[in-house]
Amino acid sequence: MSNQIPLKNIEPETVEYDLYQKRKKIYTRRISGFFQSIRTKMLWVLMLGYFLTPWINFHDRQGVFFDLPSRQFHIFGVTFWPQDFVLLAGLLIISAFALFLLTTLFGRVWCGYTCPQTVWTMIFMWIEEKTEGSRNQRIKLDKEPMSKSKFYKKFSKHSLWILFSWLTGLTFVGYFTPVRELAIEFFTFDANLWAYFWIAFFTGATYLFAGWMREQVCTFMCPYSRFQSVMFDNNTLVISYDAARGEGRGARKKGVNPKDVGLGDCIDCNQCVHVCPAGIDIRDGLQYECIGCALCVDACDDVMDKMGYARGLVSYTTENRLEGKKTTIMRPKAIGYGIAVLVMIIAFSFFVGDREPLGLDVLKDRNRLYNQTPSGMIENIYTVKIINMDQSKHTFILSVEGLDQLNMIGRKKFVVNSGEVRAIPLSIQVPPHVIQEQKNTISFTVKSIDPSYEASKTTESRFIGPVTK
Ligand code: SF4
Ligand code: SF4
Repeated sequence: MSNQIPLKNIEPETVEYDLYQKRKKIYTRRISGFFQSIRTKMLWVLMLGYFLTPWINFHDRQGVFFDLPSRQFHIFGVTFWPQDFVLLAGLLIISAFALFLLTTLFGRVWCGYTCPQTVWTMIFMWIEEKTEGSRNQRIKLDKEPMSKSKFYKKFSKHSLWILFSWLTGLTFVGYFTPVRELAIEFFTFDANLWAYFWIAFFTGATYLFAGWMREQVCTFMCPYSRFQSVMFDNNTLVISYDAARGEGRGARKKGVNPKDVGLGDCIDCNQCVHVCPAGIDIRDGLQYECIGCALCVDACDDVMDKMGYARGLVSYTTENRLEGKKTTIMRPKAIGYGIAVLVMIIAFSFFVGDREPLGLDVLKDRNRLYNQTPSGMIENIYTVKIINMDQSKHTFILSVEGLDQLNMIGRKKFVVNSGEVRAIPLSIQVPPHVIQEQKNTISFTVKSIDPSYEASKTTESRFIGPVTK
Protein backbone atom coordinates (compact mmCIF):
# COMPACT_ATOMS: atom_id res chain seq x y z
CA MET A 1 0.00 0.00 0.00
CA SER A 2 1.30 3.45 -0.94
CA ASN A 3 2.01 5.96 1.88
CA GLN A 4 1.52 8.89 -0.48
CA ILE A 5 -1.43 11.21 -0.04
CA PRO A 6 -3.34 11.54 -3.30
CA LEU A 7 -3.08 15.01 -4.86
CA LYS A 8 -6.15 16.90 -5.89
CA ASN A 9 -6.27 20.15 -7.87
CA ILE A 10 -8.28 22.84 -6.09
CA GLU A 11 -9.24 25.98 -7.98
CA PRO A 12 -8.50 29.05 -5.84
CA GLU A 13 -11.55 31.06 -4.97
CA THR A 14 -11.43 34.32 -6.86
CA VAL A 15 -12.76 37.37 -5.11
CA GLU A 16 -13.11 40.47 -7.18
CA TYR A 17 -12.59 43.83 -5.55
CA ASP A 18 -13.50 47.08 -7.14
CA LEU A 19 -10.76 49.56 -6.34
CA TYR A 20 -13.29 52.38 -6.45
CA GLN A 21 -16.08 50.76 -4.49
CA LYS A 22 -18.90 52.96 -3.31
CA ARG A 23 -18.87 53.57 0.42
CA LYS A 24 -21.40 51.47 2.27
CA LYS A 25 -23.13 53.80 4.70
CA ILE A 26 -22.81 52.70 8.30
CA TYR A 27 -25.82 53.11 10.56
CA THR A 28 -24.66 52.81 14.13
CA ARG A 29 -26.88 52.09 17.06
CA ARG A 30 -26.42 54.20 20.18
CA ILE A 31 -25.15 52.24 23.14
CA SER A 32 -24.48 53.16 26.72
CA GLY A 33 -22.11 51.31 28.96
CA PHE A 34 -18.89 51.55 30.90
CA PHE A 35 -16.57 52.36 27.99
CA GLN A 36 -19.03 54.69 26.28
CA SER A 37 -19.31 56.67 29.51
CA ILE A 38 -15.50 57.04 29.60
CA ARG A 39 -15.56 58.21 25.97
CA THR A 40 -18.31 60.73 26.74
CA LYS A 41 -16.36 62.14 29.67
CA MET A 42 -13.24 62.39 27.51
CA LEU A 43 -15.30 64.13 24.85
CA TRP A 44 -16.47 66.79 27.29
CA VAL A 45 -12.96 67.41 28.59
CA LEU A 46 -11.51 67.71 25.09
CA MET A 47 -14.34 69.82 23.71
CA LEU A 48 -14.31 72.24 26.64
CA GLY A 49 -10.53 72.41 26.40
CA TYR A 50 -10.59 73.09 22.66
CA PHE A 51 -13.41 75.64 22.58
CA LEU A 52 -12.62 77.54 25.80
CA THR A 53 -8.82 77.69 25.76
CA PRO A 54 -8.47 80.64 23.31
CA TRP A 55 -10.94 82.65 25.41
CA ILE A 56 -8.86 82.37 28.58
CA ASN A 57 -6.72 85.41 29.20
CA PHE A 58 -3.44 85.27 31.08
CA HIS A 59 -1.59 88.45 32.14
CA ASP A 60 -3.90 90.60 29.99
CA ARG A 61 -3.13 88.55 26.90
CA GLN A 62 -4.81 85.58 25.20
CA GLY A 63 -3.47 82.61 27.19
CA VAL A 64 -2.72 80.40 24.20
CA PHE A 65 -1.91 82.43 21.14
CA PHE A 66 0.23 81.39 18.17
CA ASP A 67 1.28 84.74 16.72
CA LEU A 68 2.67 83.66 13.35
CA PRO A 69 3.44 87.14 11.89
CA SER A 70 5.58 87.95 14.97
CA ARG A 71 6.83 84.37 15.10
CA GLN A 72 5.96 84.07 18.78
CA PHE A 73 3.97 81.32 20.50
CA HIS A 74 2.40 82.45 23.78
CA ILE A 75 1.37 79.63 26.09
CA PHE A 76 0.10 80.78 29.48
CA GLY A 77 2.80 83.30 30.25
CA VAL A 78 5.64 81.59 28.42
CA THR A 79 6.63 82.94 25.01
CA PHE A 80 8.35 80.64 22.55
CA TRP A 81 10.45 82.18 19.79
CA PRO A 82 11.93 80.74 16.61
CA GLN A 83 15.07 80.11 18.69
CA ASP A 84 13.00 77.68 20.75
CA PHE A 85 12.18 75.54 17.73
CA VAL A 86 14.34 72.78 19.17
CA LEU A 87 12.00 72.66 22.19
CA LEU A 88 8.99 72.27 19.91
CA ALA A 89 10.77 69.50 18.03
CA GLY A 90 11.60 67.85 21.38
CA LEU A 91 7.98 68.08 22.46
CA LEU A 92 6.81 66.43 19.24
CA ILE A 93 9.35 63.62 19.62
CA ILE A 94 8.26 63.03 23.24
CA SER A 95 4.60 62.95 22.12
CA ALA A 96 5.42 60.48 19.35
CA PHE A 97 7.30 58.11 21.68
CA ALA A 98 4.61 58.43 24.37
CA LEU A 99 2.07 57.43 21.72
CA PHE A 100 4.23 54.44 20.72
CA LEU A 101 4.42 53.38 24.36
CA LEU A 102 0.68 53.80 24.84
CA THR A 103 -0.03 51.79 21.69
CA THR A 104 2.33 48.98 22.68
CA LEU A 105 0.65 48.66 26.07
CA PHE A 106 -2.98 49.53 25.39
CA GLY A 107 -3.48 49.26 21.62
CA ARG A 108 -5.54 51.94 19.90
CA VAL A 109 -6.75 53.85 22.97
CA TRP A 110 -5.72 57.11 21.34
CA CYS A 111 -7.92 56.35 18.31
CA GLY A 112 -10.89 55.15 20.33
CA TYR A 113 -11.03 57.81 23.01
CA THR A 114 -9.14 60.99 22.15
CA CYS A 115 -8.41 61.32 18.44
CA PRO A 116 -10.11 64.50 17.09
CA GLN A 117 -11.56 62.48 14.19
CA THR A 118 -13.24 60.12 16.67
CA VAL A 119 -14.41 62.88 19.01
CA TRP A 120 -15.87 65.09 16.27
CA THR A 121 -17.51 62.07 14.61
CA MET A 122 -19.15 61.20 17.94
CA ILE A 123 -20.68 64.68 18.08
CA PHE A 124 -21.85 64.52 14.47
CA MET A 125 -23.42 61.11 15.11
CA TRP A 126 -25.19 62.52 18.16
CA ILE A 127 -26.60 65.37 16.03
CA GLU A 128 -27.64 62.81 13.41
CA GLU A 129 -29.54 60.79 15.96
CA LYS A 130 -31.24 63.85 17.42
CA THR A 131 -32.44 65.02 14.00
CA GLU A 132 -33.08 61.76 12.11
CA GLY A 133 -33.78 59.31 14.89
CA SER A 134 -32.49 55.90 15.92
CA ARG A 135 -30.58 53.45 13.70
CA ASN A 136 -33.73 51.78 12.36
CA GLN A 137 -35.45 55.14 11.79
CA ARG A 138 -32.43 56.41 9.83
CA ILE A 139 -32.31 53.30 7.64
CA LYS A 140 -36.01 53.69 6.95
CA LEU A 141 -35.65 57.43 6.28
CA ASP A 142 -32.90 56.90 3.71
CA LYS A 143 -35.05 54.41 1.84
CA GLU A 144 -38.02 56.76 1.71
CA PRO A 145 -38.57 59.11 -1.24
CA MET A 146 -38.01 62.80 -0.52
CA SER A 147 -40.85 64.36 1.42
CA LYS A 148 -41.39 67.49 3.47
CA SER A 149 -40.58 65.69 6.69
CA LYS A 150 -37.48 63.98 5.25
CA PHE A 151 -36.24 67.29 3.84
CA TYR A 152 -36.77 68.99 7.19
CA LYS A 153 -34.81 66.27 9.02
CA LYS A 154 -31.93 66.27 6.54
CA PHE A 155 -31.86 70.07 6.44
CA SER A 156 -31.74 70.27 10.25
CA LYS A 157 -28.94 67.73 10.42
CA HIS A 158 -26.75 69.42 7.81
CA SER A 159 -27.43 72.89 9.22
CA LEU A 160 -26.32 71.78 12.69
CA TRP A 161 -23.30 69.99 11.23
CA ILE A 162 -22.29 73.15 9.36
CA LEU A 163 -22.87 75.32 12.43
CA PHE A 164 -20.70 73.06 14.57
CA SER A 165 -18.06 72.89 11.83
CA TRP A 166 -18.03 76.68 11.62
CA LEU A 167 -17.58 76.93 15.41
CA THR A 168 -14.68 74.50 15.08
CA GLY A 169 -13.10 76.54 12.27
CA LEU A 170 -13.57 79.87 14.02
CA THR A 171 -12.05 78.49 17.23
CA PHE A 172 -9.11 76.99 15.37
CA VAL A 173 -8.32 80.29 13.65
CA GLY A 174 -8.81 81.96 17.05
CA TYR A 175 -5.62 80.24 18.23
CA PHE A 176 -3.73 82.24 15.58
CA THR A 177 -5.69 85.53 15.54
CA PRO A 178 -6.96 87.26 18.71
CA VAL A 179 -10.23 85.37 19.15
CA ARG A 180 -12.23 88.15 20.78
CA GLU A 181 -11.67 90.53 17.88
CA LEU A 182 -12.09 87.73 15.35
CA ALA A 183 -15.50 86.71 16.69
CA ILE A 184 -16.76 90.30 16.22
CA GLU A 185 -14.92 91.11 13.00
CA PHE A 186 -16.21 87.95 11.37
CA PHE A 187 -19.76 89.33 11.48
CA THR A 188 -18.84 92.95 10.70
CA PHE A 189 -16.80 91.78 7.67
CA ASP A 190 -13.72 93.49 9.07
CA ALA A 191 -11.68 90.32 9.54
CA ASN A 192 -8.61 89.62 7.48
CA LEU A 193 -9.28 87.84 4.16
CA TRP A 194 -6.99 85.00 5.20
CA ALA A 195 -9.01 84.58 8.39
CA TYR A 196 -12.17 84.10 6.28
CA PHE A 197 -10.32 81.67 4.04
CA TRP A 198 -9.02 79.50 6.90
CA ILE A 199 -12.34 79.53 8.76
CA ALA A 200 -14.06 78.39 5.55
CA PHE A 201 -11.36 75.77 4.99
CA PHE A 202 -11.63 74.26 8.48
CA THR A 203 -15.42 74.46 8.42
CA GLY A 204 -15.42 72.49 5.17
CA ALA A 205 -12.84 69.98 6.37
CA THR A 206 -14.73 69.32 9.63
CA TYR A 207 -18.07 68.94 7.84
CA LEU A 208 -16.53 66.57 5.31
CA PHE A 209 -14.40 64.46 7.66
CA ALA A 210 -16.80 64.13 10.61
CA GLY A 211 -20.06 64.27 8.69
CA TRP A 212 -19.45 62.37 5.49
CA MET A 213 -16.18 60.47 5.55
CA ARG A 214 -16.04 59.32 9.18
CA GLU A 215 -14.49 55.83 9.36
CA GLN A 216 -12.96 56.31 5.90
CA VAL A 217 -10.53 58.86 7.33
CA CYS A 218 -9.28 56.21 9.78
CA THR A 219 -9.28 53.39 7.27
CA PHE A 220 -7.81 55.10 4.21
CA MET A 221 -6.22 58.40 5.21
CA CYS A 222 -4.71 58.11 8.67
CA PRO A 223 -1.05 57.01 8.48
CA TYR A 224 -1.01 56.15 12.19
CA SER A 225 -3.67 53.46 11.75
CA ARG A 226 -1.47 51.85 9.10
CA PHE A 227 1.82 51.61 10.94
CA GLN A 228 0.69 51.09 14.50
CA SER A 229 0.34 47.34 14.04
CA VAL A 230 4.15 47.15 14.19
CA MET A 231 3.89 48.29 17.82
CA PHE A 232 1.47 45.50 18.68
CA ASP A 233 2.66 42.26 20.23
CA ASN A 234 0.99 39.34 21.98
CA ASN A 235 0.76 41.32 25.22
CA THR A 236 -0.89 44.41 23.74
CA LEU A 237 -4.37 45.14 24.97
CA VAL A 238 -6.82 44.69 22.07
CA ILE A 239 -10.55 44.29 21.71
CA SER A 240 -11.21 40.62 21.02
CA TYR A 241 -14.00 38.17 20.71
CA ASP A 242 -13.46 34.99 22.71
CA ALA A 243 -14.18 32.51 19.94
CA ALA A 244 -13.53 29.50 22.19
CA ARG A 245 -16.36 30.63 24.43
CA GLY A 246 -18.65 32.17 21.82
CA GLU A 247 -18.70 29.53 19.04
CA GLY A 248 -20.83 28.01 17.69
CA ARG A 249 -22.96 31.01 17.65
CA GLY A 250 -26.69 30.89 17.28
CA ALA A 251 -30.05 32.03 18.59
CA ARG A 252 -31.62 30.38 21.61
CA LYS A 253 -34.21 31.20 24.21
CA LYS A 254 -33.26 33.07 27.36
CA GLY A 255 -32.49 30.73 30.23
CA VAL A 256 -31.36 27.88 27.97
CA ASN A 257 -27.96 26.48 28.84
CA PRO A 258 -25.94 26.86 25.60
CA LYS A 259 -24.16 23.54 26.18
CA ASP A 260 -27.51 21.74 26.24
CA VAL A 261 -28.23 22.95 22.71
CA GLY A 262 -24.67 22.52 21.46
CA LEU A 263 -23.95 26.22 21.21
CA GLY A 264 -21.43 28.71 22.56
CA ASP A 265 -22.29 31.95 24.36
CA CYS A 266 -22.70 34.14 21.24
CA ILE A 267 -26.39 34.45 20.45
CA ASP A 268 -25.58 35.93 17.02
CA CYS A 269 -27.62 39.06 17.73
CA ASN A 270 -25.20 41.28 15.76
CA GLN A 271 -25.44 44.03 18.38
CA CYS A 272 -21.63 44.27 18.39
CA VAL A 273 -21.78 44.96 14.64
CA HIS A 274 -24.64 47.47 14.84
CA VAL A 275 -22.79 49.72 17.30
CA CYS A 276 -19.47 49.61 15.49
CA PRO A 277 -18.50 52.98 13.96
CA ALA A 278 -16.05 51.18 11.66
CA GLY A 279 -18.76 48.85 10.38
CA ILE A 280 -16.85 45.64 11.11
CA ASP A 281 -17.63 42.40 12.89
CA ILE A 282 -15.18 41.91 15.75
CA ARG A 283 -15.95 38.19 15.67
CA ASP A 284 -13.89 38.00 12.46
CA GLY A 285 -10.76 38.73 14.50
CA LEU A 286 -8.51 41.76 14.89
CA GLN A 287 -8.90 44.07 11.90
CA TYR A 288 -7.02 47.25 11.02
CA GLU A 289 -10.32 49.15 10.67
CA CYS A 290 -11.00 48.64 14.39
CA ILE A 291 -10.33 51.91 16.26
CA GLY A 292 -10.51 50.27 19.69
CA CYS A 293 -13.54 52.26 20.84
CA ALA A 294 -14.88 49.30 22.88
CA LEU A 295 -18.49 49.99 21.91
CA CYS A 296 -18.81 46.34 20.89
CA VAL A 297 -17.69 45.42 24.42
CA ASP A 298 -20.48 47.54 25.92
CA ALA A 299 -23.01 46.12 23.45
CA CYS A 300 -22.05 42.50 24.08
CA ASP A 301 -21.86 42.94 27.86
CA ASP A 302 -25.40 44.31 27.70
CA VAL A 303 -26.52 41.22 25.78
CA MET A 304 -24.68 38.89 28.17
CA ASP A 305 -26.41 40.59 31.14
CA LYS A 306 -29.80 40.08 29.53
CA MET A 307 -29.05 36.44 28.78
CA GLY A 308 -27.70 35.87 32.28
CA TYR A 309 -24.24 34.90 30.98
CA ALA A 310 -20.92 36.15 32.28
CA ARG A 311 -19.67 39.38 30.74
CA GLY A 312 -16.51 39.55 28.63
CA LEU A 313 -17.36 37.54 25.51
CA VAL A 314 -16.03 40.59 23.69
CA SER A 315 -13.47 42.31 25.87
CA TYR A 316 -10.18 44.08 26.26
CA THR A 317 -7.69 41.28 26.33
CA THR A 318 -4.38 40.17 24.86
CA GLU A 319 -3.45 37.48 22.36
CA ASN A 320 -1.56 35.69 25.14
CA ARG A 321 -4.54 35.71 27.48
CA LEU A 322 -6.79 34.34 24.75
CA GLU A 323 -4.32 31.47 24.29
CA GLY A 324 -4.29 30.84 28.05
CA LYS A 325 -0.79 32.25 28.45
CA LYS A 326 0.45 34.86 30.91
CA THR A 327 0.25 38.53 29.91
CA THR A 328 3.11 40.74 30.94
CA ILE A 329 3.50 44.51 30.87
CA MET A 330 7.27 44.46 31.32
CA ARG A 331 8.65 43.46 27.93
CA PRO A 332 11.65 44.76 25.95
CA LYS A 333 9.70 46.92 23.48
CA ALA A 334 7.60 48.62 26.16
CA ILE A 335 10.63 49.08 28.44
CA GLY A 336 12.58 50.58 25.52
CA TYR A 337 9.83 53.09 24.70
CA GLY A 338 9.41 53.86 28.41
CA ILE A 339 13.11 54.59 28.86
CA ALA A 340 13.19 56.71 25.68
CA VAL A 341 10.22 58.79 26.88
CA LEU A 342 11.72 59.21 30.34
CA VAL A 343 15.14 60.27 29.04
CA MET A 344 13.57 62.76 26.64
CA ILE A 345 11.31 64.23 29.33
CA ILE A 346 14.34 64.73 31.60
CA ALA A 347 16.33 66.33 28.76
CA PHE A 348 13.36 68.51 27.79
CA SER A 349 12.82 69.67 31.38
CA PHE A 350 16.51 70.49 31.62
CA PHE A 351 16.39 72.58 28.42
CA VAL A 352 13.21 74.39 29.47
CA GLY A 353 14.60 75.08 32.98
CA ASP A 354 17.85 76.33 31.48
CA ARG A 355 16.14 78.48 28.87
CA GLU A 356 17.03 82.16 29.17
CA PRO A 357 14.18 84.47 28.15
CA LEU A 358 16.73 86.78 26.58
CA GLY A 359 18.19 86.67 23.09
CA LEU A 360 21.18 88.39 21.58
CA ASP A 361 22.01 88.34 17.86
CA VAL A 362 25.04 90.12 16.44
CA LEU A 363 25.26 90.77 12.70
CA LYS A 364 28.49 92.16 11.29
CA ASP A 365 28.18 94.58 8.40
CA ARG A 366 29.28 92.55 5.40
CA ASN A 367 29.57 95.47 2.97
CA ARG A 368 32.93 96.54 4.32
CA LEU A 369 35.31 94.35 6.28
CA TYR A 370 36.61 97.35 8.24
CA ASN A 371 37.00 101.15 8.03
CA GLN A 372 39.77 103.45 9.14
CA THR A 373 38.45 106.50 10.99
CA PRO A 374 40.03 110.00 10.50
CA SER A 375 41.70 109.52 13.89
CA GLY A 376 43.37 106.33 12.58
CA MET A 377 41.25 103.81 14.52
CA ILE A 378 40.12 100.54 12.90
CA GLU A 379 36.35 100.36 12.92
CA ASN A 380 33.89 97.48 12.42
CA ILE A 381 30.13 98.08 12.17
CA TYR A 382 27.53 95.72 13.70
CA THR A 383 23.81 95.46 14.21
CA VAL A 384 23.04 94.02 17.62
CA LYS A 385 19.56 92.67 18.34
CA ILE A 386 18.37 92.35 21.94
CA ILE A 387 15.29 90.12 22.22
CA ASN A 388 13.33 90.37 25.45
CA MET A 389 11.37 87.11 25.66
CA ASP A 390 10.20 87.78 29.22
CA GLN A 391 6.66 88.87 30.07
CA SER A 392 7.80 92.31 31.44
CA LYS A 393 9.98 95.10 30.12
CA HIS A 394 13.53 95.32 31.44
CA THR A 395 16.60 97.52 31.33
CA PHE A 396 19.74 96.02 29.85
CA ILE A 397 23.40 97.01 29.63
CA LEU A 398 25.37 96.06 26.55
CA SER A 399 29.14 95.48 26.71
CA VAL A 400 31.81 94.03 24.46
CA GLU A 401 35.30 92.62 25.11
CA GLY A 402 37.99 90.56 23.42
CA LEU A 403 40.59 93.12 22.26
CA ASP A 404 42.77 95.61 24.16
CA GLN A 405 41.69 99.25 24.15
CA LEU A 406 38.44 98.29 22.44
CA ASN A 407 35.96 101.15 22.31
CA MET A 408 32.26 100.72 21.78
CA ILE A 409 30.66 103.78 20.19
CA GLY A 410 26.96 104.22 20.87
CA ARG A 411 24.44 103.80 23.64
CA LYS A 412 25.01 101.08 26.19
CA LYS A 413 21.79 101.11 28.18
CA PHE A 414 18.41 100.08 26.73
CA VAL A 415 14.88 99.58 27.95
CA VAL A 416 13.34 96.71 25.99
CA ASN A 417 9.64 95.92 26.19
CA SER A 418 8.25 92.42 26.61
CA GLY A 419 8.35 90.62 23.26
CA GLU A 420 10.36 93.41 21.63
CA VAL A 421 13.32 92.89 19.33
CA ARG A 422 15.52 95.99 19.71
CA ALA A 423 17.97 96.45 16.82
CA ILE A 424 20.97 98.61 17.69
CA PRO A 425 23.54 99.83 15.14
CA LEU A 426 26.96 99.82 16.76
CA SER A 427 30.53 100.74 15.95
CA ILE A 428 33.56 99.08 17.60
CA GLN A 429 36.89 100.86 17.27
CA VAL A 430 40.36 99.58 18.11
CA PRO A 431 43.84 101.18 17.68
CA PRO A 432 45.63 99.46 14.78
CA HIS A 433 48.68 98.37 16.81
CA VAL A 434 46.65 96.01 19.05
CA ILE A 435 45.47 93.95 16.07
CA GLN A 436 47.62 90.82 15.83
CA GLU A 437 45.32 88.70 13.66
CA GLN A 438 43.15 89.52 10.68
CA LYS A 439 40.16 87.84 12.34
CA ASN A 440 39.70 88.44 16.06
CA THR A 441 37.06 86.94 18.29
CA ILE A 442 35.14 89.44 20.38
CA SER A 443 32.15 88.79 22.62
CA PHE A 444 29.06 90.88 23.15
CA THR A 445 27.19 90.60 26.45
CA VAL A 446 23.77 91.91 27.31
CA LYS A 447 22.81 91.92 30.98
CA SER A 448 19.71 92.93 32.87
CA ILE A 449 20.25 95.62 35.53
CA ASP A 450 16.76 95.21 37.04
CA PRO A 451 17.25 94.02 40.62
CA SER A 452 14.28 91.66 40.36
CA TYR A 453 15.36 90.09 37.07
CA GLU A 454 18.63 88.27 36.52
CA ALA A 455 19.44 87.48 32.92
CA SER A 456 22.45 87.79 30.70
CA LYS A 457 23.44 86.52 27.30
CA THR A 458 26.81 86.45 25.51
CA THR A 459 27.38 86.02 21.79
CA GLU A 460 30.65 85.88 19.90
CA SER A 461 31.44 87.73 16.69
CA ARG A 462 34.48 88.68 14.59
CA PHE A 463 36.46 91.88 14.50
CA ILE A 464 38.38 92.21 11.26
CA GLY A 465 41.32 94.50 10.69
CA PRO A 466 44.72 94.89 8.96
CA VAL A 467 47.66 93.11 10.66
CA THR A 468 50.41 95.58 11.46
CA LYS A 469 53.84 93.94 11.78
S1 SF4 B 1 -14.83 46.41 16.45
FE1 SF4 B 1 -15.48 47.18 18.44
S2 SF4 B 1 -13.72 48.33 19.20
FE2 SF4 B 1 -13.40 48.00 17.00
S3 SF4 B 1 -14.22 49.85 16.07
FE3 SF4 B 1 -15.86 48.34 16.08
S4 SF4 B 1 -16.98 48.75 17.98
FE4 SF4 B 1 -15.04 49.80 18.15
S1 SF4 C 1 -23.04 41.19 20.74
FE1 SF4 C 1 -22.08 39.43 21.66
S2 SF4 C 1 -23.66 37.89 21.53
FE2 SF4 C 1 -24.28 39.46 20.10
S3 SF4 C 1 -23.37 38.83 18.19
FE3 SF4 C 1 -21.88 40.16 19.14
S4 SF4 C 1 -20.53 38.76 20.21
FE4 SF4 C 1 -22.40 37.60 19.74
